[in-house]
Amino acid sequence: MQSKIHVKSPIVEIDGDEMARVMWHMVKERLLMPYLDMKLEYYDLALKKRDETDDKITVEAANAIKKYGVGTKCATITPNKAQVREHGLKQEWKSPNGTIRAILDGTVFRSPILVKNILPSVKNWKKPIHIGRHAYGDVYKNQEILVPGPGRGELVFTPAGGGTPVRLTIQDFEGAGILQGIHNTDQSIRSFAKSCFTYALDQKIDLWFSVKDTISKTYDARFRQIFEEEYERSWKKRFNEEGINYFFTLIDDAVARIIKSEGGMLWACKNYDGDVMSDMLASAYGSLAMMTSTLVSPEGYFEYEAAHGTVARHYQRYLKGEKTSSNPMAIIFAWTGCLKKRGDLDKTPDVVEFGKKLEAAAIETVENGVLTGDIMRVAEPDPRNKQVYTEEFMDAIAERLREKL
Ligand code: NAP
Ligand code: MG
Repeated sequence: MQSKIHVKSPIVEIDGDEMARVMWHMVKERLLMPYLDMKLEYYDLALKKRDETDDKITVEAANAIKKYGVGTKCATITPNKAQVREHGLKQEWKSPNGTIRAILDGTVFRSPILVKNILPSVKNWKKPIHIGRHAYGDVYKNQEILVPGPGRGELVFTPAGGGTPVRLTIQDFEGAGILQGIHNTDQSIRSFAKSCFTYALDQKIDLWFSVKDTISKTYDARFRQIFEEEYERSWKKRFNEEGINYFFTLIDDAVARIIKSEGGMLWACKNYDGDVMSDMLASAYGSLAMMTSTLVSPEGYFEYEAAHGTVARHYQRYLKGEKTSSNPMAIIFAWTGCLKKRGDLDKTPDVVEFGKKLEAAAIETVENGVLTGDIMRVAEPDPRNKQVYTEEFMDAIAERLREKL
């Protein structure tokens, strides 16, 4: 290898907490900085920094992604009441991911990293199934009433600035029961649709979308309608050019087909469906540490991260001076995803190529039986399999990477 590869435009780097932060810096030190000449717009979202800046640092990081278009984020602590006391925080700061997602108006997509020696629980899944969850509204922003006894449950809409309210009877209760009101907005559904079409086009994969519009003829039907409008207006031509498809089907049909498929699509889900199905997919593909997460805004800004958290339990052991066998795969892929995107946007194929080589080096390391504890448990039995510490795992990847460069 001669000189370092030059990354033309800056990358937004968002640092985080605990074991994820320890691995983050190892990845930079051992797998990135020796080979890349890159300018990083650094934002430290460690819990202490967020507290010191009254969480302004999180807002600045999100705005930097808007400015530069591409960023990568390390997992961060969302403090609970005990952590507020423990760290003497000014308040129970909100989830940084929630704040960043709100500023970018983005959707989170999750994708598994596939390796030959970890088989999905569903044997015909050959390619990753990417999942996009609409993370706004529905049952997650509802109102509920515990109905104590007989009475009328109604749905009422009062137009702003006057006009006759719309009033529908949901149920005339004869006894005790329950009642729930949910909503969504055209704007949020449209942003979700745009982010899904953007991601599918970026990955060059089919987009599946599914709701229950045979039963919910207004609410779910509105989701279907907005997706179809968006597709016809802005995406059909580009999808045709890439040879990819937009496919709508009922949610039950989608579930049945996903199980029988070989994977390789983006599955866009309503909020509840996405919550449930993403956990099913993560578990079926083997390990949370082999799952990446990408935040895509409707304007086409991208933020790459690992789907797992700060791995707090391993950090407790690390603080005691013990070595851990934590898995950095998803963190490595957060960086490579970001570098490949940066290279695409900058039209610098050598940067894209570096990202691909690092991914290949990481995958081959696992496929050759060099494993961290979490994947040792789920890998296909092989006499070569050996559980290693995090540093050894990274060094094995670095060795393969050097051979490829
Ligand atoms: P977690 O950090 O994802 O870890 C849960 C468990 O999963 C770990 O204890 C470990 O199991 C296993 N695991 C996860 N990632 C692993 C890796 N890279 N290598 C090996 N094993 C891994 O979730 P959590 O413990 O519920 O949350 C910890 C903190 O992370 C919380 O403060 C939470 O707010 C935050 N969090 C942040 C994000 C984010 O910023 N994106 C996402 C989720 C959670 P074993 O202990 O059995 O080995
Ligand atoms: Mg869930």
